[in-house]
Amino acid sequence: MTSRRDEILANLDRVNRRIADACAGAGRDPAELTLIVITKTYPPSDIRLLSDLGVRNVGENRDQEAAGKAAECADLTLTWHFVGQLQRNKAPSVARYSDVVHSVDRPRLVAALDRAAARAGRRLGALVQVDLAQPKDPARGGAAPADVTDLGADIAAADNLELRGLMAVAPLGEDPAAAFARLREVQTQLRRRFPTADWLSAGMSGDLEAAIAAGATHLRVGSAVLGERAHVG
Ligand SMILES: *Cc1c(COP(=O)(O)O)cnc(C)c1O
Repeated sequence: MTSRRDEILANLDRVNRRIADACAGAGRDPAELTLIVITKTYPPSDIRLLSDLGVRNVGENRDQEAAGKAAECADLTLTWHFVGQLQRNKAPSVARYSDVVHSVDRPRLVAALDRAAARAGRRLGALVQVDLAQPKDPARGGAAPADVTDLGADIAAADNLELRGLMAVAPLGEDPAAAFARLREVQTQLRRRFPTADWLSAGMSGDLEAAIAAGATHLRVGSAVLGERAHVG
């Protein structure tokens, strides 16, 4: 019987091979890419195994689950990414354990995170989440492409936040390459004003190749490393 460690190791190898192949196809250097393993629904013991296997970046999408797991893994040297929709009242908790918040999509959330970071005595990285759905899907997070640069300016002006770039999820039912091409245009606009905001957080288990071709710098991969989730997290 294979151990959980062997299973995760084999999955990581497979994902890293996919990344290497996609980079070769796109003429990119794999060193430009950061793999963030999305650990939602999986236990802290898996996070320990990931850390043991050399993973340095993990991501979560629900504050209640993430806060407990981050506390249990506080002895590990990990960068914690928060990638889920975020209510303002959760900002104080998220600011305590997250290093980077990928899902900033409205001005009032910028203000709440800035205050929470100040209170926690921390500086948080922040990405503007772009809604790539056409028409906009109100059930999902993300700022309209036309609002992204203004929101980026709000983040850049916040004392305790650092504007890192953009995050997006490819809409269901659309060719991810087309969606990521629109994301790339939004990035070009943002970087005209904020040249150092160069992170592009895009690409999940099913579409990481398309994201790499479109210039992604940070991949958020869950099920391809840890297995299919029992329920949608
Ligand atoms: C769950 C999740 C992922 C990872 O999805 P997989 O398909 O399991 O790779 C990436 N980004 C966000 C925002 C998520 O919620």
